[in-house]
Amino acid sequence: MEKVYDVAVIGGGVVGGMTLRELSRYQLKTILLEQAEDVVMGASKANSAIVHAGFDAEPGTLKAQYNVEGNALMEAVTGELSVPFRRNGSMVLAFSEEDLKTLRDLQERGRKNGVPGVRLMSREEALSQEPNLSEEIKGALWAPSGGIVCPYELATAAIGNAMDNGAELKTGFRVTGIEKENGNFVVISEAGEKLYARYLVNAAGVHADEVARMIGDDSFSITPRRGEYMLLDKTQGATVFATIFQPPTKMGKGVLVTPTVDGNLLVGPTSEDISDKADTATTPEGLEKVERLSKLSVPSVNLRAVITSFAGLRATPGGGDFIIGPSAADAGFINAAGIESPGLTASPAIAVAVVKHLEEAGLVLIKREDFSSFRKPFPKFRRMSGAEREALIRQDASFGRIVCRCETITEGEILAAIRRNPPARDVDAVKRRTRAGMGRCQGGFCGPQVVEILSRELGLPMDEVTKCGGASRMLVGKTKETQ
Ligand SMILES: Cc1cc2nc3c(=O)[nH]c(=O)nc-3n(C[C@H](O)[C@H](O)[C@H](O)COP(=O)(O)OP(=O)(O)OC[C@H]3O[C@@H](n4cnc5c(N)ncnc54)[C@H](O)[C@@H]3O)c2cc1C
Repeated sequence: MEKVYDVAVIGGGVVGGMTLRELSRYQLKTILLEQAEDVVMGASKANSAIVHAGFDAEPGTLKAQYNVEGNALMEAVTGELSVPFRRNGSMVLAFSEEDLKTLRDLQERGRKNGVPGVRLMSREEALSQEPNLSEEIKGALWAPSGGIVCPYELATAAIGNAMDNGAELKTGFRVTGIEKENGNFVVISEAGEKLYARYLVNAAGVHADEVARMIGDDSFSITPRRGEYMLLDKTQGATVFATIFQPPTKMGKGVLVTPTVDGNLLVGPTSEDISDKADTATTPEGLEKVERLSKLSVPSVNLRAVITSFAGLRATPGGGDFIIGPSAADAGFINAAGIESPGLTASPAIAVAVVKHLEEAGLVLIKREDFSSFRKPFPKFRRMSGAEREALIRQDASFGRIVCRCETITEGEILAAIRRNPPARDVDAVKRRTRAGMGRCQGGFCGPQVVEILSRELGLPMDEVTKCGGASRMLVGKTKETQ
């Protein structure tokens, strides 16, 4: 007899991860299917990391509803998952009389959407709160409930928490076909593996339209909209305190300047519709645009301090709004598709909505007595006091060995990333869980040591350890033969 899961979630980003976590509250057999060799490899790892206040989305849309609900849930969710989150507030700047009118419209939208505390600021008030803003501004819209979070840490923690509560994870499982057999879905992978489930959740990001088509649902299409960024060194993290936006356009919320929860400064993104759903390359034109536009808001942005650049793909839906609910082709197939911005913010609320849709489709939800919404905090040596560090090293000597000097990451933290759910299996997975390799040298110093630790822990020869799965091997051969 084949094992039949109650629910299989397709897509291991923040939406799939939050949904898996929400499902793990109940007595259900659940599994997360992810095509990549690690979770959180799509938009959820490359975005602005903003917990949006919710004044952007048009009132009455799912985007507006779940943005505001997700924002309100963020304190509790990040607290339970031990993920850093800060309500630093956000400001939209006006550079002209027309922009001031846009800000008034946004304020009104905020009011209709139920966003607390949104108000207009005079030029003087904005400049006294953020002295590095351009002198050219005419005023600003202030939203105190805006925040920042680490997106990949949040998504990974949600998946880890669900797994600690019994949910399963299958990476390297690219869904290429879906059939029906005895009332159950048969999910078929590229490698020909089959998996059975009573209900499916489609959280496949930019590929969600292709996955929906596998059950005959061609009701929507997704266009990848690329956004390019530059990340600046921690010396620049205090350039601004709040997240600084420019007035939005029909292509998005414009180029922002924001601190990150880890103390860096982030500038970007661009907004460009492309055709290749895998093209996350940065371009000279894109980065030049980020430089030019970010300096309009904050002229002192110091681009000599850039430590890396990256791009993410928004899953832009043809109809403009999130697509959340049962497919017309099969009521047991719940779409969570077209989740572009503010999807990170909205994800905890989307997860609750998806589970409600599953219940309406017939899934019986019985609470698990032993469910724990709390995830044991990841050890963070860099944030500990001297006494805490000493106590930890006395308990476990691996915390006494610094591997990543830029970010002060110890061997103990890397071992935890490999041993805890969801387990890290390659160098980038270790980086996203611990920050080893995220500092100024970008892994130049710690990379070889991370390879060595992965090789030892996973029982793999060093030349089989990869950067990010597949053929991305870090080492290609020996320079000296040993005797
Ligand atoms: C440039 C940019 C800036 C943004 N800024 C913000 C922001 O500041 N605040 C905010 O709230 N939101 C922001 N967003 C939106 C937010 O990042 C997304 O809404 C969110 O990450 C979407 O999560 P997801 O899980 O739906 O998709 P993803 O994270 O893309 O996850 C989908 C997963 O599905 C997997 N998958 C796809 N096809 C298959 C298949 N056939 N089989 C198995 N697995 C499959 C993929 O590998 C991927 O891991 C931004 C997005 C971008 C791109």
